[in-house]
Amino acid sequence: MSAHGEGRQMSELHDLTLAELATKLRGKEVSAVEVARHFLARGARHESLGAYLATSEEVTLAQARGADARLAGGDTAPLLGVPIAHKDIFVTTDFPSTAGSRMLEGYRSPFDSTVVLKFKGAGAVSLGKLNCDEFAMGSSNENSAFKPVLNPWDTTRVPGGSSGGSAVAVAARLAPAATGTDTGGSIRQPASFCGITGIKPTYGRASRYGMIAFASSLDQAGPMARTAEDCALLLSAMCGPDPDRDSTSLDVPAEDFTRTLNDSLQGLRIGVPKEFFGEGLSADVRAAVDAALKEYGKLGAVLVPISLPRTELSIPVYYIIAPAEASSNLSRFDGVKFGHRAEKYTDLTDMYKKTRAEGFGDEVKRRIMIGTYVLSHGYYDAYYLQAQKIRRMIADDFQQAFKTCDLIAGPVAPTVAWKLGEKSSDPVASYLADIFTLPASLAGLPCMSVPAGFGAGGMPVGLQLIANHLQEARLLNAAHRLQQATDWHQKTPGGLLR
Ligand code: GLN
Repeated sequence: MSAHGEGRQMSELHDLTLAELATKLRGKEVSAVEVARHFLARGARHESLGAYLATSEEVTLAQARGADARLAGGDTAPLLGVPIAHKDIFVTTDFPSTAGSRMLEGYRSPFDSTVVLKFKGAGAVSLGKLNCDEFAMGSSNENSAFKPVLNPWDTTRVPGGSSGGSAVAVAARLAPAATGTDTGGSIRQPASFCGITGIKPTYGRASRYGMIAFASSLDQAGPMARTAEDCALLLSAMCGPDPDRDSTSLDVPAEDFTRTLNDSLQGLRIGVPKEFFGEGLSADVRAAVDAALKEYGKLGAVLVPISLPRTELSIPVYYIIAPAEASSNLSRFDGVKFGHRAEKYTDLTDMYKKTRAEGFGDEVKRRIMIGTYVLSHGYYDAYYLQAQKIRRMIADDFQQAFKTCDLIAGPVAPTVAWKLGEKSSDPVASYLADIFTLPASLAGLPCMSVPAGFGAGGMPVGLQLIANHLQEARLLNAAHRLQQATDWHQKTPGGLLR
């Protein structure tokens, strides 16, 4: 290949989707090592965005060489040689695993999480670990103990959270794809804020083994990429039962989500919940979501008005249940088993206290306190138990709605990405912004964010799609058809990124 040809090709690699890269790799037009080197260099050039917490040329290139050997042997596995980066909530043997917390600074896991292992087995090449809110608690990535992540569309704004590093890596084309986790919106909201595509599958579809736990009844892994087609490829590799390691993983076989991407949407009934279009929704986001819904009309879908009457209650319910579970999960960080231990202490209790005071950030401490309170004797019935009951009602509301529609559509968030620092002194303001993502999380439903144009300040807006349990294929089909009819997902953040 001529020097000129190579230069041209290299500058284009990051503009390719994951599916396009995979095809080029299989066709031997480019090697996994070349692709890996390109993305490593790009990541280093845009380090100031704060997306990565750990990279290693040695590890990445070794994996790329392994993929090239498999490709040379004629292996045609769909993800062979494509680079991917992982949210730093997934434990990995090759890189440190911090969950964005000082508590786990420099921590090395002796094993790989199931999701990471599945990608390794599929021959994907890991580019490193991505920044996130501490223990996945947050909506702006400003709770990372290490550094904020900047939104590439406007670096004075947040990327969303908690999978902010994942969203920025993909949006800024530092990686063609990333993993994320979603407890109450952490895949959908940053995907929406950064103009990319992300899907949270049905609770239990992907194994939670090796995902550093936040709220176990809600936590779920999912892919983030530029297109629905890429998400379908990635999700097909991530799902499947893991009975020996995650007892809540569903006994449902892995599925090829790419098979139905092109199905017709003729007659598809899309439910539009009136509660998602009320007062709190800003006019710019509303206009973008309406335009996307109109596109679905052109594709043959029928819009059906529906109601999810307990939408508002999902905020107090989630902010009781999630901290309750977090307070229990985070008790394992005691200075003995993992990570940080205070240097000076007088006795065992003092060691626990100092370790936790030093290791956890403010938001994590706040949630441990709320969680401990709502679970304590005398308050359990008043808060935790009531929240569980309403959670069930929220789930029932969805089942009621799915009697008259096949999918539900609405905004992901009430506004576009806000300015860095804008909500950091007011945690409740940021909790309120989760209103549209929490209901599907509480009901364990598959849901996604699909780029749907731009709002205030030229910032991206995401359309949220929600399906009934195990209907990820339907979601991805609807998202793919929209992406074939529109070009919102192809827009790239300007100047900075060339
Ligand atoms: N923003 C929500 C929270 O702070 C959701 C986080 C998540 O999904 N991990 O808890």
